[in-house]
Amino acid sequence: MSNKRDYYEVLSVPKGASNDEIKRAYRQLARQYHPDVNKEADAESRFKEINEAYEVLSNAEKRAAYDRFGHAGTQGGFGGFGGGFGDFSSIFEDLFAGMGMGASQTRQAQRGPRRGADLRINLTLTFEEAVFGVDKEVEVTRLEQCTRCVGSGAEPGTNPLRCPQCNGAGEVQRRQQSIFGTILTSSTCPRCNGSGEVVTTPCIECNGRKQLQSTRKLTINVPAGVDDGTQIRLAGEGNQGMSGGPPGNLYVVLTVQQHAVFQRRDNDIVMELPINIAQAALGAEIEVPTLDGTAVVTVPPATQNGRVLRLKGRGVPHLRKSDRRGDQLIGVKIVVPTQLTPKQKKLLEELGETLGTPKLGDERGFFDKLAGALGDAFNG
Ligand SMILES: [Zn+2]
Ligand SMILES: [Zn+2]
Repeated sequence: MSNKRDYYEVLSVPKGASNDEIKRAYRQLARQYHPDVNKEADAESRFKEINEAYEVLSNAEKRAAYDRFGHAGTQGGFGGFGGGFGDFSSIFEDLFAGMGMGASQTRQAQRGPRRGADLRINLTLTFEEAVFGVDKEVEVTRLEQCTRCVGSGAEPGTNPLRCPQCNGAGEVQRRQQSIFGTILTSSTCPRCNGSGEVVTTPCIECNGRKQLQSTRKLTINVPAGVDDGTQIRLAGEGNQGMSGGPPGNLYVVLTVQQHAVFQRRDNDIVMELPINIAQAALGAEIEVPTLDGTAVVTVPPATQNGRVLRLKGRGVPHLRKSDRRGDQLIGVKIVVPTQLTPKQKKLLEELGETLGTPKLGDERGFFDKLAGALGDAFNG
């Protein structure tokens, strides 16, 4: 540590130098001592020293630590030289920018085998199809390998040439001198995009794109118990990959149509059952629709408006355990007659005299009853 030169001295700048001054000094020295151009014996160590000094002095935090503690301040917590990859690459970019090389040239392109894109289609189901499951045929338009050129992009009968730029390797290597010595970077060949071949006569079907839009009929096996918004994933049924990459997936997003009578609440289905005042008072056996045909529900005597009756196991099958089903919940709605025959009117009048007027505040209040009915519907 003790034989290290002062960083300001290394860059030949005063202690109070501005960032611009430091940068300018660094660029000039880096060009002067770059081992590619400077063949003196100590050029490489000078070059390292210059980079190290610049790495610290160009970073406000490190520079402050260095100003306070000297070289000790740039060790440990601050990670010394090369501790931060970000700093390293910024030096690189600064350096190559100074030497007329764009920073982008130091970055590696990412190509080669490419996975096909995922696709998404919508599928609308009836209420019953969602409840019990269904096999549905859908049409999917996706990118597939061109059959004319078998994905080569070259017109049949012609052969792609070996790429002259990479000699068929698909990647090109570049040698760069750096403070750590020679760095070999390999990147995808820009001429052939990594395929190693150059098409001279493109396939007339796909114009050399290697893939074509193709519309396929697929059968979607919709399981019982799906709901609005459920997604079904068909692995590998998306766009085909390129250059040997795997295909994408197909996602089928389900929309479930409303039912005239039923509504769905998770695995239960809910319906409203209108009854007349006599049925409410005396009780009745009433035929109701269910998902599996009709069933008879027993309305007990003295049934109040909003009471919830339950048909066990007549709801929606559970998605992964289709032997288990939810219930059918039947909310009773007492319908007060609006048109009465003279005879009905007379009967009701007689009935009314015997019943009298119900007391105020009897039983539960209206709002409690409302809340209770809703609670029953959800719990039970
Ligand atoms: Zn083709
Ligand atoms: Zn190439």
